[in-house]
Amino acid sequence: MDLFEYQARDIFEKHGVPVLGGVVATTPEEARSGAEKLGGGTVVVKAQVKTGGRGKAGGVKLAHSPQEAESVARDILGMDIKGHTVHRVMIAQGASIAEEFYFSILLDRAHRSYLAMASVEGGVDIEQLAVERPDALAKVEVLPTEGINEAKAREIAAAAGFPEELTERVVDVFQRLWTVYREEDATLVEVNPLVLTSDGAVVALDGKVTLDENASFRHPDHEALADSEATDPLEAKAQENNLNYVKLDGQVGVIGNGAGLVMSTLDVVAYAGERHGGVKPANFLDIGGGASAAVMAAGLDVILGDPQVKSVFVNVFGGITACDEVANGIVKALEMLGDTATKPLVVRLDGNNVEQGRLILNQANHPLVTLAETMDGGADRAAELANV
Ligand code: GDP
Ligand code: MN
Repeated sequence: MDLFEYQARDIFEKHGVPVLGGVVATTPEEARSGAEKLGGGTVVVKAQVKTGGRGKAGGVKLAHSPQEAESVARDILGMDIKGHTVHRVMIAQGASIAEEFYFSILLDRAHRSYLAMASVEGGVDIEQLAVERPDALAKVEVLPTEGINEAKAREIAAAAGFPEELTERVVDVFQRLWTVYREEDATLVEVNPLVLTSDGAVVALDGKVTLDENASFRHPDHEALADSEATDPLEAKAQENNLNYVKLDGQVGVIGNGAGLVMSTLDVVAYAGERHGGVKPANFLDIGGGASAAVMAAGLDVILGDPQVKSVFVNVFGGITACDEVANGIVKALEMLGDTATKPLVVRLDGNNVEQGRLILNQANHPLVTLAETMDGGADRAAELANV
């Protein structure tokens, strides 16, 4: 889960990383009172969107008074930055910047380790710097077993070429940012720019934090950071039911058991769609191994709630949950859904107790259900039914 800058700022503050005052606002009036709360002096109004390059896009602007903060916020709110609509701004205490640096800690999957990156040329496009002048961006491995202790922080500062007189200050900030990374179970902590202010303080002026959702059980407080507005309503509903669902942009709903089977079902449906007006899979949905009727019903409910869906392909390989149970699940699910189930279902079963499963579906004789013999045949039929 990616955080907004203002959330990153709050987390930094919690762990003692030096930051400037910041207040979030959703209206120009709130922006004005936020600027007043920060003392009425110069503030920076910053678009809160989960993408970089806000400055270049006009989403970061100085304001010298609360009135100006209000009018600048009016310009920024509602702005579109790389496809993200600005719903909130952060009013941040203005800083007088002497220098801009870069610092980040990230998960280095390729090396099964962590990586710290630092540069004394921050603020700008770091991706561009990394490509054009890789020497200007220091990369230092951080062992998960050791983290960024004082020695490691010194190594990073030296590798990046931080001036001698700043070493103590940045070494302290690096260690605190490591604490954020470890304590919050982040996979990315990036500060760009980390600035030296004209009065000599080293401050994190912009923060980007990605939290590892696999660790959310350790962080009940992280739930409140989720951006409910941005979550697709169908994905939110699936999440409430603990379903592995990803909304896609097609017409054929897909339900399967096991991530691998569902992935290949998506491919097969996409190929079949080429013969049927270019229809595509509408979603990924893995109902998992021991799927009960209730899980099947919840899954069907989510998929049928997608207005783009025209047909559903249920592709199940009976294993721990055998085909007869799956078939019963489908029958019960259709009962539970009643009139809300209106779209044709193509069902392909294979594996344990396939004969019994088919028998159950044949006997139920539900008008919406068609049985398919093979995965390709089922995908083809579902695509055909979706091409209306
Ligand atoms: P980004 O463009 O999305 O990365 O947004 P940033 O928060 O990094 O802001 C972009 C640039 O705006 C920074 O690199 C700074 O140069 C400038 N900036 C941000 N906050 C302040 C501030 O308080 N004072 C001044 N003078 N400039 C700022
Ligand atoms: Mn930045």
